[in-house]
Amino acid sequence: MKDNEYDVIVVGGGNAALCAAMSAREKVKSVLVLERAPENKRGGNSVFTAGSFRMVHDGLETIRKVIPDLTAEEISTTDFGEYTVEQYLDDLGRVTQYHIDPDLAEILVRESTGTVQWIKDSTKLRFVPMYGRYAFKHNGRFKFFGGTVVYANGGGAGLVDGEYRAVAQSGVEVRYGTQATSLLRGPAGIEGVCVISNGVEENIRSRAVVLACGGFEANREWRTRYLGPGWDVAKVRGSRYNTGDGIRMALDIGAQSYGQWSGCHAVSWERYAPDFGDLDSMSTSYRHSYPFSVMVNADGKRFVDEGADFRNYTYAKYGRVVLQQPASYAWQVFDSQVAHLLRDEYKLRGATKVQANTLEELVDRMQDVHPVQFLETIREYNAAVKREVPFDPNVKDGRCTAGLAVNKTNWANTIEKPPFDAYSVGCGITFTFGGLKIDTTGRVLDISDQPLPGLYAAGELVGGLFYFNYPGSSGLMAGAVFGRIAGRGAAEFVSSKSQS
Ligand SMILES: Cc1cc2nc3c(=O)[nH]c(=O)nc-3n(C[C@H](O)[C@H](O)[C@H](O)COP(=O)(O)OP(=O)(O)OC[C@H]3O[C@@H](n4cnc5c(N)ncnc54)[C@H](O)[C@@H]3O)c2cc1C
Repeated sequence: MKDNEYDVIVVGGGNAALCAAMSAREKVKSVLVLERAPENKRGGNSVFTAGSFRMVHDGLETIRKVIPDLTAEEISTTDFGEYTVEQYLDDLGRVTQYHIDPDLAEILVRESTGTVQWIKDSTKLRFVPMYGRYAFKHNGRFKFFGGTVVYANGGGAGLVDGEYRAVAQSGVEVRYGTQATSLLRGPAGIEGVCVISNGVEENIRSRAVVLACGGFEANREWRTRYLGPGWDVAKVRGSRYNTGDGIRMALDIGAQSYGQWSGCHAVSWERYAPDFGDLDSMSTSYRHSYPFSVMVNADGKRFVDEGADFRNYTYAKYGRVVLQQPASYAWQVFDSQVAHLLRDEYKLRGATKVQANTLEELVDRMQDVHPVQFLETIREYNAAVKREVPFDPNVKDGRCTAGLAVNKTNWANTIEKPPFDAYSVGCGITFTFGGLKIDTTGRVLDISDQPLPGLYAAGELVGGLFYFNYPGSSGLMAGAVFGRIAGRGAAEFVSSKSQS
């Protein structure tokens, strides 16, 4: 090996990249991570997450392996349920309208539990049960719903810190503030990457490269080009550095584009949130308690079934629905019956919120909602609620409305007990779905489905996994599963080259 040549270069500094680096380092000596962000902004979207992972489990027995320090009280007051391989595959199929690549789906699901365990062992991170978000205390007991139970202690920041610690301890080199701009190629395949750092261009040689540098959600121009008109005004929930570089670099050398390029994960989000995620006030813009609300647009009309399913099966597609409303905003309206169920972010400074003791005053304070239609919408909605069905936030309770143009399927509480609260939301984009085609060993494929020798990919820039929608907590899981596979694949490619 020549000086300044690495076995494997990993482009990116989030969860997928760090899993790739940890995994490659298990098999080869020299691994370099290139992170475009400066050190104090490292970690991509991964650092903005809650650190939750969607994995297969059979209840207490599996959960205990990931969380060995569960207390006796937690065990006695919690029903962890189960989440089988079949349920996970069904969820992925249903929410993606069965477009998901079946081979990738199968790997994601079957490798999920082992990969969380591997992260735990490799990083020595603690995992904890996600009470409050995926299980509410109802009648003295927690019951987990919607497929997610565990998250890394400290959320995304804790996860990413733990992963950086682990890669540093294993001798992986990290270069911050270093943007990969193109791939170097020779007769035998990939030979490294060209980077720019502090305005200086440099070629860094390696025998294999893993691209794990995110989607194109932070690129306004690509958003408008591929997602469509209006997406230029969406707010970016996370990293400002994911501008599609990895995808472009691979397409430039003949990689195949794959997945839903017009699709993305986008949520209803604080209307006046900053343009990009802010590491200093990470969670203030979340507005995820809408299943307990009535959502109205500028015309004062409901436009979506707020209670169609658990929040984590609908939130990723409802940002687009808000973007499509007149002037791309909406209001979430709650009354005092559900105030205790609102997530903490609703109470933080920075929320665009109005409160009133009558609905007339409330709509007057909203200022930009048609008042007559709003009052009529709430009147019709209240009259349509099946009050005889008991409310239960932990299950799809079937407390619905009947006879409305847009019915609410679950958790339909009347809006009648003051004080009334209304929160204004816009669209926040999380990540894009279109990207590169990989095979089951993480190799990037060309248009003939042949691998580009030495090139691997993982994370948000892999296409074919998500279409139209996304089951919550599968982003970190997919990044970890395919990051681990891509790192291992790249290292094995290097080892096989050394032997030949
Ligand atoms: C607010 C928020 C909350 C979320 N919550 C969850 C959750 O709880 N659970 C879950 O599963 N998912 C969650 N997600 C989705 C999740 O963040 C992603 O699916 C996952 O983190 C993607 O990991 P990644 O490594 O592919 O990308 P990222 O973590 O975004 O990493 C991409 C990296 O590439 C770097 N980069 C970009 N371009 C270059 C370049 N040219 N050269 C070098 N480096 C480059 C970036 O700086 C960054 O470090 C959330 C996302 C957001 C924004």
